Amino acid sequence: MKLRVVVLGAGFGGLELTSMLSEAVGDNLDLTLIDQHDAFFFGFSKLDVMFGHKKADSVKIPYSGIVKPGVRFCRETITAIDPETKTVTTNKSVHKADVLVVALGANYDFDATPGLNQHGNEYYSFDGAVKLRDVIPDFKSGHAIVGVCGAPFKCPPAPSEAALMLHDHLVSSGSRDACTISIVMPFGSPIPPSPDSSTALLRAFEERGIQFIPQHKIASLRAKTAVLDDGTEMPFDLFLGIPKHVAPDVVLQSGLAENGWIPVSRQTLMTRYPGVYAIGDVTSVGTPKAGVFAEGAAKTAAAAIIDAWHGKESEAGYTGAGSCYIEFGKGQVARVDVDFFSGPKPFGIHHDASKALTIDKEHFGSSRKARWFGL
Ligand SMILES: Cc1cc2nc3c(=O)[nH]c(=O)nc-3n(C[C@H](O)[C@H](O)[C@H](O)COP(=O)(O)OP(=O)(O)OC[C@H]3O[C@@H](n4cnc5c(N)ncnc54)[C@H](O)[C@@H]3O)c2cc1C
Repeated sequence: MKLRVVVLGAGFGGLELTSMLSEAVGDNLDLTLIDQHDAFFFGFSKLDVMFGHKKADSVKIPYSGIVKPGVRFCRETITAIDPETKTVTTNKSVHKADVLVVALGANYDFDATPGLNQHGNEYYSFDGAVKLRDVIPDFKSGHAIVGVCGAPFKCPPAPSEAALMLHDHLVSSGSRDACTISIVMPFGSPIPPSPDSSTALLRAFEERGIQFIPQHKIASLRAKTAVLDDGTEMPFDLFLGIPKHVAPDVVLQSGLAENGWIPVSRQTLMTRYPGVYAIGDVTSVGTPKAGVFAEGAAKTAAAAIIDAWHGKESEAGYTGAGSCYIEFGKGQVARVDVDFFSGPKPFGIHHDASKALTIDKEHFGSSRKARWFGL
């Protein structure tokens, strides 16, 4: 009997899980991969787009390129998920699964931060990054704030990366001396699980005159003024926001989520519903919301699904380990190898920024393109 799987979301997690199942099960697989969009893009390409390093169309990888044994891609918007019956309703169809995998990522609640839409900008959505490409060149003097509006948020290094890349942009446009840059973040350090990465980032901020404001988030925005969670007011001329994250509405309405996100077993990534798995940013598994962790969870879930199909007890187990690249500007990239579940507490090993790691990061992207899309 074929393994009948429906995967919701063709992002980092959904694409990796689909690739693994297709490789392992081949023509015995009947997998439907559903996404509302027609193309994938890496989260980090939003930074390239907002600073004009790459064109928006050039970072999109069309799903039409997915040709894998046993896999069918459907461009549909999911409107309801019934985890009891493993039935998914979309704007076009109804899909029934033996195994259901929810990989729908995290959405943004822009309205949770009053004034963000009217007075600020954000670069976490693709449209927001595209809009900023035209806004940033007009910023030639005054104060820029990179401000986090709530935790958890995707890719904890991304606010630091935006500040360092803004610094580079202003140096090359000759405006740096007329501008100041601050980062507001709800953590005590830029990357809490890796003190060495945090020290390297704080040193880079100091060298470049970037102010780091820890343990605070942005509560609201007025015209040219950001208000922090303790009421402090900070004037700004450019605001680059990280909006509050939420699970997609369709997940919240499905009964799968608890306290906003989907709880899963660390052993198998299964939810409390038999045969229903959840991976990536939509879960509360205990790793940061980042592509590398969505990918690691996908590998574990795929192994567990294959074991269950063979009628075996699962030997899988999610280690919560992954490597995150950090843009330091000046064409240099650092890396932190983080492990969340092996030791008594999360720990990270820092690798200093270098040109060699810039090439490493390029390979990270191109190897996923090759694996998922055959490019
Ligand atoms: C600025 C920025 C920089 C980043 N840099 C990095 C980095 O360097 N390294 C890293 O590892 N991570 C990075 N990330 C984070 C990374 O992009 C995400 O954590 C990762 O994509 C999560 O994978 P996922 O599979 O859980 O969800 P996603 O990749 O977000 O995929 C979810 C998919 O579900 C689809 N979907 C949602 N709702 C519906 C619906 N109702 N119907 C149909 N389809 C739906 C979406 O269209 C989407 O394709 C960055 C993120 C940002 C914003």
